[in-house]
Amino acid sequence: MEILPGVRQFKLPLPDRHLGYIFVYLLERSDGYLLIDTGWDTAASQEALTAQLAAAGVDYRDITLVMCTHFHPDHYGSAGMVKERARAKLVMHRLDPPKGMRRPHATMEAFVESMQEWLLSHGFPEEHIRQIGPPRWMQRGHLQTVETDIVAEDGDTLELKGGPVRLLWTPGHTPGHLCLYDPRRRLLFSGDHVLPKITPSIAVHGEESGNPLGDFLASLRKVQGLDVELICPGHEYTFGGLARRVDELVAHHEERCEEILKAIRIGHTTSYAIASRIHWNVGSWEQMSYWLHRAALGETLAHLEHLVQTGRVARRRDDGRWSFTLPA
Ligand SMILES: [Zn+2]
Ligand SMILES: [Zn+2]
Repeated sequence: MEILPGVRQFKLPLPDRHLGYIFVYLLERSDGYLLIDTGWDTAASQEALTAQLAAAGVDYRDITLVMCTHFHPDHYGSAGMVKERARAKLVMHRLDPPKGMRRPHATMEAFVESMQEWLLSHGFPEEHIRQIGPPRWMQRGHLQTVETDIVAEDGDTLELKGGPVRLLWTPGHTPGHLCLYDPRRRLLFSGDHVLPKITPSIAVHGEESGNPLGDFLASLRKVQGLDVELICPGHEYTFGGLARRVDELVAHHEERCEEILKAIRIGHTTSYAIASRIHWNVGSWEQMSYWLHRAALGETLAHLEHLVQTGRVARRRDDGRWSFTLPA
């Protein structure tokens, strides 16, 4: 679908039923096209992309640049295929994919073992941990990464037909998430940074993951004041009202921080126990799978980390176990 002259939106199916699809975007350059995101590495997604390119009268070889907003498989999965067929250059931020991903764990067992230790240190019940296997992307071999040709920094520009567009480093959802801002057409290609209804997952995935929630909140403020008429996200639908949506997202995380503080106030100290007291929109804690418990723990920890960094929560480690309390 052509959403504006020179800007096309393609809808590609995802194996994940919850999200359903991803939008990728094709923008005209003077010597070809820029493709923003590539879809999942499945035959169905690649066929959909090929068909929609053909319907637009565009050949893979017309694509000269591919920019991936971040390394998640729905956005980055087919980057290798597109690069190969298009002979295009791939643009990404230097922090995506994270180094740990690029250096695959020696074995899947080693990865699972380090994940289990980490979960145990945060109060996850041992008998549940044993039932959590490796993540799906790992089982399906989605760990492959492709070489980035143009390592982007915040504020770098890309030349399009009619003028330059600006890459904005918006860490939080991933460490190297990029948005693309087109000031001339007042468009923000937001990837998973700003979505109309969904709040993107902001999570800690292991030791030394930094403060992704602090980064995310700063990245939201960074885009909030841009002159934007239409936000072109990776999922759901295009929408307007950027400043208002940013306020909603900030408020959502502030509410979650309040819920966490409440759980700590009534005596919960491990992040697992705290996570089990939070309202999750996928159902009650008892109904959630152990995989979802793990995801919830990662999100809870992102909030706890931010609360620690801003002095609202104290953290300590005894015998390898982390606990969180209110500061003395
Ligand atoms: Zn994502
Ligand atoms: Zn996504």
